[in-house]
Amino acid sequence: MEFLEKYGTEAQKQQWLVPLLEGRIRSAFLMTEPDIASSDARNIRCDIRRDGDDYVLNGSKWWSSGAGDPTCELYIVMGQTTNTSSENPYGRHSVVLVLTNTPGITVHRMLSVYGYDDAPYGHGHITLKNVRVPASSIVLGEGRGFEIIQGRLGPGRIHHAMRTIGAAESALEWMIARVNDEKKAFRPSHSAHGTFQEWIAKSRIEIDAARMTVLNAAVKIDQEGAKAALREIAMAQVLVPHMALQVIDRAVQAFGAAGVCQDTPLPGLWASARIIRIVDGPDEVHLQQLGRRESQRMGEAVQEKLRWQSAETDRLLSLSGFGAAVFSGGYIPKANL
Ligand SMILES: Cc1cc2nc3c(=O)[nH]c(=O)nc-3n(C[C@H](O)[C@H](O)[C@H](O)COP(=O)(O)OP(=O)(O)OC[C@H]3O[C@@H](n4cnc5c(N)ncnc54)[C@H](O)[C@@H]3O)c2cc1C
Repeated sequence: MEFLEKYGTEAQKQQWLVPLLEGRIRSAFLMTEPDIASSDARNIRCDIRRDGDDYVLNGSKWWSSGAGDPTCELYIVMGQTTNTSSENPYGRHSVVLVLTNTPGITVHRMLSVYGYDDAPYGHGHITLKNVRVPASSIVLGEGRGFEIIQGRLGPGRIHHAMRTIGAAESALEWMIARVNDEKKAFRPSHSAHGTFQEWIAKSRIEIDAARMTVLNAAVKIDQEGAKAALREIAMAQVLVPHMALQVIDRAVQAFGAAGVCQDTPLPGLWASARIIRIVDGPDEVHLQQLGRRESQRMGEAVQEKLRWQSAETDRLLSLSGFGAAVFSGGYIPKANL
C-alpha cells in the first residue's frame, strides 16, 4: 500500500489503493525467483517485454507472501524490461501491476516455514507464462524498479522489527509463567532457579534495548524519511531478530520438552523470528551496507586519525631512542640514522 501511495498514478490508486485500504482485497509482492540468488535483486530475470499497447511477462517467482489469501487480487511483479537498454545494472528492472486472474498465471503451491503451513495466507510459488497486461500497468516507468523496491523496503523492515519485538515480549511472558508454575515449581535450592531469574533479567534488558533501536529508526523515518534512515533501519533489522531468537530460545529451555511441542506458541514464535534474518534480504547484506555507510560517515576524519596515530608512534619511538624511519620491516635506532 505504501508503495502505491508513493509511486502509483491516480488511476492505479483508484483501482488498487482504495480497495486495499478498505481491506476488500490484498496484494502480493513477486520479486524473489527460485533459480537465482535473489538477495542481489540485480539478478532478477523475469522477462517484461513491451508488445504494442501491452507488456508480456514470463518468469518464475516464489515466496510471494499473501498470494494464498482468497482476497489476493493484485500481484506486484518485479522483472527485467528487456527493451530498456541501460548500462546501469540498477536501471534495467521495472515493476508491473498484474491482476491475479490474468491468463498465463499458475500458482503451484504454498511454501511452508519450518514445516508450518501458512496457508491460506502462505507464500506462493508462481509462474507467469505470456501474461499480458496493459502498458498502463507499469509503475513509475521502465527501468525504475530499484527506485521502487528501495523506497518500499525501508518502512517494511521496520514493521517486521516491531512485530518481532512483540514476539520476544510474548516469549518472555511465557518464560515467566513457566518459572512461576507452582505445579512444576523449582525447589528454591535448585540452582536452575537463579539461572532463570538471570535469563528473565537479561531478556528484559535485551528486549528494551532492541525496542529503543526500533524507536530510533521509526523517529528518523518520520522526521527525515526512509532514505535518510537506512542506517538506523539496518541496525534494527539485524539486531531485533537476533535478540528475539535468544529470548525465545531461553523460554523454550525453561519449558524443557514442553517448549518444543505444540502446547505453547514458542516454536511458532521462533520460526517467525528466524525468517526475519532472511526476509527482505539476509543479515549479511545489511551488515555489509551498514559497515560501508559507517565507514563513509567518518569521511576525512579517517585520514586525520591515521595521521595522528603515525605521529604518536613516531613520538613514542623517539622517546625510546628510536627514529621513525622503517627499514627492512624494523625501526632503526636513532644513533644509526
Ligand atoms: C517467510 C518469507 C517470506 C518472504 N516474502 C517474500 C515476498 O513477499 N516477496 C518476495 O519477493 N520475496 C519474499 N521472500 C524472499 C526473500 O526476500 C529472499 O529469500 C531473500 O531476499 C534472500 O534471497 P534468496 O532466498 O534467493 O537467498 P540467496 O540470495 O540465495 O542467499 C542465500 C544466502 O547467501 C548469503 N548471502 C547472500 N548475499 C550475500 C552477500 N552479499 N554477502 C554475504 N553473504 C550473502 C546469505 O547468508 C543468504 O542467506 C520471503 C522469504 C521468506 C523466508
